[in-house]
Amino acid sequence: MKTGKVYLVGAGPGDEGLITLRAVELLRTAQCVIYDRLVNPALLKYAPAGAELIDAGKKPGRPAATGRHSITQTRINKLLVTKAGEGKKVVRLKGGDPCVFSRATQELKALAQAGIEFEIVPGVTAGIAAAAYAGIILTDRDYSSQLIFVTGHEAEEKSKSNIDWDLLGRFNGTIVFYMAVRNLGLIADRLMANGKAADTPAIVIASATLPTQRVTGAPLCEIAAKVEKIDIKPPAIIIVGTAAESDRRLNWFMNKPLFGRSIVVTRDDRGNAELASKIVCRAALPIVFTTIKIKTLTESNRFIEAARELDVYDWIVFSSANGIRSCLEGLKKLGRDARAFAKAKIACMGRPSAGLLEQFGIMADFVPTVFTSVQLAGQLAEKVSLKNKKVLLLSSAITSGQLADELKSFGATVNEVSIYTTVPAGNKADRLIEKIELDQIDWITFTSPSTVRYFFEQITPSLINSNRAKIASIGPVTSAELSRLGVKLDLEAQEYTTDGLITAIEDFARQAPKGQEAIKG
Ligand code: SAH
Repeated sequence: MKTGKVYLVGAGPGDEGLITLRAVELLRTAQCVIYDRLVNPALLKYAPAGAELIDAGKKPGRPAATGRHSITQTRINKLLVTKAGEGKKVVRLKGGDPCVFSRATQELKALAQAGIEFEIVPGVTAGIAAAAYAGIILTDRDYSSQLIFVTGHEAEEKSKSNIDWDLLGRFNGTIVFYMAVRNLGLIADRLMANGKAADTPAIVIASATLPTQRVTGAPLCEIAAKVEKIDIKPPAIIIVGTAAESDRRLNWFMNKPLFGRSIVVTRDDRGNAELASKIVCRAALPIVFTTIKIKTLTESNRFIEAARELDVYDWIVFSSANGIRSCLEGLKKLGRDARAFAKAKIACMGRPSAGLLEQFGIMADFVPTVFTSVQLAGQLAEKVSLKNKKVLLLSSAITSGQLADELKSFGATVNEVSIYTTVPAGNKADRLIEKIELDQIDWITFTSPSTVRYFFEQITPSLINSNRAKIASIGPVTSAELSRLGVKLDLEAQEYTTDGLITAIEDFARQAPKGQEAIKG
């Protein structure tokens, strides 16, 4: 059997956007992924469905004292050799850069010893990322022309320590400490005992690059007490030197209007993943609660018949992106492709839908400026006469029928075919309810009436109305469903798209008086 290969890959510091293209490329074709505790689990989505995912997370602390090592280093080394020995393409995924404070030497030597090929893919290390995400400039010709990375882990082990405290005490540059929260008092004392001024600026950046990032600064002599007082937890980077003199205006990440807000997404899996990534880009924390599953109905005779005779229609109207996806999947099963639409003109509900159509090689002929049924029909009728025109409306089985009625009111003959429906996802709401009760949720977002219905089958409107969580709706139809159920609405998007929804929440946060929406940290 052919021997496999091991890729020692950096996953970046946390924010899933900070992984390299090369790393993603390797993950996409990995057969086995062995990942560490600090790796963002969201990155595992890149691994193919059949890949073996092994959690090699070592918990911090000394194993002898705590028994907390879930898997030993020796075992990880063996695992790498075994999996590659089975002929697998193994991605060994480590937080930050794979070779910075990471026991890479042991793993690579074990591979070399066993004659197994390997490659190293560097990553964005936490020290660099934490500084960037706190607006700290590590080097500057005016105040720091030198930069040192130090592990804080060895501070207490005097006999084994390789740290040159004498040098650090005198060091006229920026010192970046990893793994230093637990020993912070000791580290500060050592630095001062070796000549560092007590008022040297120090700053701690915990959970850097994530919506849970926390930053606190103090003079070196006070930093340990402050970190303890406000209970900052690892992982954290500690920066000592003039660079650590923080300027709040440069803290761009935590100054984002939605930074640290918890925003619940309530769509189907695909929709939630899409919306969650938009939320992450705004430095907020998506809380995923899947309410529905999309079920295509393209096996139905009505769809099959319509698909056979697409040529007879003047207009084909898609009421949503789910409809477009379902339709093209359905056509594919019938051995047809985008050419089936060659004759008819195409209208779709929104710009995102038009974008999706483009991915299938189809340019929409008409998109209304406001994404509602009334506007779609009305604006289309203004542009072209719908009198006696044959329209195929591809919609969801749970539509209100309003779009068909509107089109008919302009004289069109409408064949409405349901090509998908939504069914409840059947998730348990216990954990979400607990978070809402503990006031840990800032926003709950709704993007369709069916998600509203299924959500409130599990969670009572009174729970929402009596807690801090605010409600945001994508548009009037969804808002109507919320008010039908007696749910207080805090905001409706101006543009009825998920981008419009997030932007509206962002604008709301921007306008909220200071203090009302306190920033963590
Ligand atoms: N190879 C990693 C470092 C592993 S050592 C890298 O290059 O980043 C683990 C230490 O990294 C933690 O104790 C902490 O000091 C730092 N660290 C990792 N992720 C971090 C994060 N998101 N925020 C702050 N520090 C982090």
